[in-house]
Amino acid sequence: MLHQFQALSSSIKSLSGVSGGVLDRVSLSNIVEMTVTRAIGEAMSNAVFVLDHDQRPLKPVHPAVARRMLNAKTAAVFRRYPFTIICQAGISTGAPSPLRLKIDPGSKTTGLAILDGPRLLWAAELQHRGQRIKAALDTRRAVRRTRRQRHTRYRQPRFDNRTRPAGWLAPSLQHRVSTIMTWVARLARYAHIASLSQELVRFDMQLMQDAEIAGVEYQQGELAGYEVREYLLEKWHRTCAYCGVQGVPLQVEHIISPARGGSHRVSNLTLACAPCNQKKGTQTAAEFGFPHIQAQAKQPLKDAAAVNATRWALSHTLQATGLPVEPGTGGRTKYTRTRQGFPKTHWLDAACVGVSTPEALHLLTAQALLIVSVGRGSRQRCRTNAHGFPIRHLSRGKRHFGFQTGDIVRATVPRGKHAGVHVGRVIVRQRTSFNLKGKDIHVQYMRLLHRADGYDYGFSSSLELGEKPSLSPIQPHARRSGWSTSRGN
Ligand SMILES: [Zn+2]
Repeated sequence: MLHQFQALSSSIKSLSGVSGGVLDRVSLSNIVEMTVTRAIGEAMSNAVFVLDHDQRPLKPVHPAVARRMLNAKTAAVFRRYPFTIICQAGISTGAPSPLRLKIDPGSKTTGLAILDGPRLLWAAELQHRGQRIKAALDTRRAVRRTRRQRHTRYRQPRFDNRTRPAGWLAPSLQHRVSTIMTWVARLARYAHIASLSQELVRFDMQLMQDAEIAGVEYQQGELAGYEVREYLLEKWHRTCAYCGVQGVPLQVEHIISPARGGSHRVSNLTLACAPCNQKKGTQTAAEFGFPHIQAQAKQPLKDAAAVNATRWALSHTLQATGLPVEPGTGGRTKYTRTRQGFPKTHWLDAACVGVSTPEALHLLTAQALLIVSVGRGSRQRCRTNAHGFPIRHLSRGKRHFGFQTGDIVRATVPRGKHAGVHVGRVIVRQRTSFNLKGKDIHVQYMRLLHRADGYDYGFSSSLELGEKPSLSPIQPHARRSGWSTSRGN
């Protein structure tokens, strides 16, 4: 299956007669989509983690193997997300081989991938909630501002609240580091993670120094070209230097055309959309009416612009785990992913991070687990309307009838308006009917699948290109891969 996939990609490469970097995006993605859809039909899903009787990680297995073990009662479900089974005493799936966890941290979504040598066993996309944290803090600040309007007595400051410790990150950014670390720790509990890879910077400043400072030509190698591309994207803010258009394919453009003696140095390069590039032709930027572009190109991008505080904080925290951490660059990730002919998804990006990525990556999964940070609720017990007027109060306790808001449950309703099986996160009430996906369902029909842990789960359908990840298809997938046949919990 996969060999066909690789053969297909390589045949396209030879057909178009170019290396992976300049492939026609549309035709490639169609074929990848076709192949991958078939792959999903053959149930290429994430490996199942296995624990021994003492909860130490064993070798992860294919879902079909896990299903057989569960049916034979040699194992029981230990945890649903990520799907983990625990063996009976004396049963084993084999000694674990050292695995590598690769991380591609992003501002909204972080890709996670677990590799066993050249085989991609397990992948996930972790969606952060930084924006929601910021919005909540903005609301809190607005409420506290009103104290300034109150005519109260003078109160002495109790402590100096205007200092921040070194290395402080804004809560929305700290959350990114913390959630990634939560998942690194979690995965290390269920699988034998021996090393880590992290995309640390967008481009390699070392290669840049060659290009920008020493003035070596940028066409030193294909990889250097990718680093230069990422550098230019950062330097020119991902916009066309001439018309300012965003979100269209941008071309690397010579400010002074090579035909007029212009060099291939980065200081002579900018980004332009196809029409602008065409229109400019062999004119210099000044002749084209943009003299300031020439001056701007001369100034190298400051180090600070390439360095992302959050990624460095993550790197330091990862190093504190004691595992070897391999840093990677965005340029290399893109280079590797394009060479393998994979579409752009966060989890495939993660699988391509760092030099350790093998020449031919063997995908054993075509569907990543989607992990959405949803938080653990708020302390606020009084809910207000849009004007801040209190309209309802929440109970003091969080648990009712053994359930709490955020638990993932399966409700089997025998009759009535909502007859059928419903799976999802529940919103509890003090009375016996809970809100499950907008439906009022009696607690007696509910069975706990997964205790609320601050995340919601689904399957990222990102390989079906152009589609947004959705949370809905948990049930059909679970049924197809047989995960729900477990009677373990
Ligand atoms: Zn343009």
